[in-house]
Amino acid sequence: MMESAKRVAEKKDWIKGATGDWEIVLGLEVHAQVLAKSKLFSGASAEFGGEPNDHVSLVDAAMPGMLPVINEFCVEQAVRTGLGLKAQINNRSVFDRKNYFYPDLPQGYQISQYKQPVVGEGSVHVDVDGRAVEVGIERLHLEQDAGKSLHDQHPTMSFVDLNRSGCALMEIVSKPDMRSADEAKAYVTKLRQIMRYLGTCDGNMEQGSLRADVNVSVRRPGGEFGTRCEIKNVNSIRFMGQAIEYEARRQIGILEDGGSIDQETRLFDARKGETRSMRAKEEAHDYRYFPDPDLLPLEIEDSWIGAIKASLPELPDDKIARFIKDYGLTAYDAAVLTSERPSADFFEQVAKGRDGKQAANWVINELFGRLNKEGKTVENSPVSAAQIGGIVDLIVSGAISGKIAKDLFEIVWTEGGDPAQIVEARGLKQVTDTGAIAKAVDEIIAGNPDKVEQVKAKPSMLGWFVGQVMKSTGGKANPQAVSDLLKEKLGI
Ligand code: ADP
Ligand code: MG
Repeated sequence: MMESAKRVAEKKDWIKGATGDWEIVLGLEVHAQVLAKSKLFSGASAEFGGEPNDHVSLVDAAMPGMLPVINEFCVEQAVRTGLGLKAQINNRSVFDRKNYFYPDLPQGYQISQYKQPVVGEGSVHVDVDGRAVEVGIERLHLEQDAGKSLHDQHPTMSFVDLNRSGCALMEIVSKPDMRSADEAKAYVTKLRQIMRYLGTCDGNMEQGSLRADVNVSVRRPGGEFGTRCEIKNVNSIRFMGQAIEYEARRQIGILEDGGSIDQETRLFDARKGETRSMRAKEEAHDYRYFPDPDLLPLEIEDSWIGAIKASLPELPDDKIARFIKDYGLTAYDAAVLTSERPSADFFEQVAKGRDGKQAANWVINELFGRLNKEGKTVENSPVSAAQIGGIVDLIVSGAISGKIAKDLFEIVWTEGGDPAQIVEARGLKQVTDTGAIAKAVDEIIAGNPDKVEQVKAKPSMLGWFVGQVMKSTGGKANPQAVSDLLKEKLGI
C-alpha cells in the first residue's frame, strides 16, 4: 500500500540507532463496533455483557439453513462514519466469506467485505503537539465480529461465548501514514472522537468496542518501506504507544545486527510490556475469499447518502474552527472544550451572550477541574450552564471578586441555588466603597510598622499588604481599589 503523502517525519521523531537514524512507519486497522441494538445479520441483541450465550440467535450460532438478513441501520452507521471521514461512499459493495477455522467462529467463515467495501478513500486530520498531520484512510468495510473463547474458567476445559458473534464491526484501514507512537495515539483518539460525535460507535476500548491492529515497520528516514509486523487487538491507547515503541526497537535491533524482519502477526503482552510472535502472517489467498451467495450486493442510492449527509452533526474540526473564530478562544482551549460533544454544548450555553474567554476559563478551569476530581462528566454535573453563566455575570459586572467567585462556585456545587441570590443573601458583594476599604488599609498599615519600612525599599512586597487587606475583608474588597489605596497611603 502506498503512503498517501510523501512526508518524512521531523527529526525529533526519529530513533537513534547504533548505525544511524530510523523512522517508524505505522498503518492501523481499527475495529469499531457499530452502536446498534441488534447484530449485523440477525435480530439478536448487540448489547455488551449479559450471561454467556444469552444474545445468540440461530443465525449467530450458524445453525444449518439459517440465512443472514442485512441490518439496514448498521449500513447507515457505516455510511455515516464514512462521511465523517470525508470518504468516498460506494454505491455498490459486496459481502464476502473469509474462511478460517476457529472454535469461536461456528460458521467456519466470517462475513466481511473484501474487494468492494462500502466506504473507500478518505482522510483524518490530527494535531500532534501543534503539528498538523493528515492520515489517509484506505477503506472502511463492514464485517461480523466473532465469539469469544474462555480458557481460564476451568483447569481442563475451554468454553465459547457467542454473545459477540455476529455483532457489526466497521474495520477502518488507514494508509501507512503515521510516523510515531504519538501520531498513532492521536489518530485513534481522533477516530474515536469523530465516531462518538456521529453516535456510530461508543469508542469504549475497555469493553472492546474499539480495538486496533497496529502495523509497524522501520526504515531509514525517507527511504523504502521495511517489512511490517502486525500487532493484533490492542485495546488501550496507552498500550498501543508502548507496543509501538517496543516493536520498533526490536526491529531496529534485528536490522542493525544484519538480520531481516519476518512478516508476522504479534501480540502485545501488557504485563511484560513486550510483543511476541503469534503466527506467520496469513495472506489473503489463505482465506479463500468469495462473495457470500446468501447475500445480495449492497446497493446504496445517492439520495440516501445525501439524506445521511444532511443529518450529520458539526464535527470536531469545524467546531474548533468556529470556537476560535466566534469566541476568540485559543486553539488549545477550543480543542479541550470540543473533545466531547456534551462539553462543547455546555460551553456554548454558558458563552451565549457572554464573553467567550471568561466562559471558557470558567468551564475549563473551575468546572472541568472539579468534575475530573469527582469522576463526573458535564452530563451529570451538579452545576448547570445557567449557574456558571450567572457566576461569570457577577464577575464581569464587578459585583464579586475572583476570590469570592471561587467560594460561590463551591456553594453552588454543594448546595445549588441561583448565584445572584446567594451573593445577595450572604452579603458576598465586592466592597468598592472606599471608606470601608480605607479603614481596613489603615488597620493593616498601623499594625505592621516593620513591614511598612520594608515595602518602601522593596515595592514588590505590596502583594503581601493587598493579601492582608483582602483577608481582613473576607475577600470582598475590590483588589484594584485596595492596591491603589495602599500605594497612595504608603507613598509608593
Ligand atoms: P493486508 O491486507 O495484508 O493486511 P494491507 O495492504 O491491507 O495489508 O494493509 C494493512 C495495514 O498495514 C494498513 O493499515 C496499511 O497502512 C499498513 N501497512 C502496509 N504496509 C506497511 C508498512 N510497510 N509499514 C507499516 N504499515 C504498513
Ligand atoms: Mg488487513
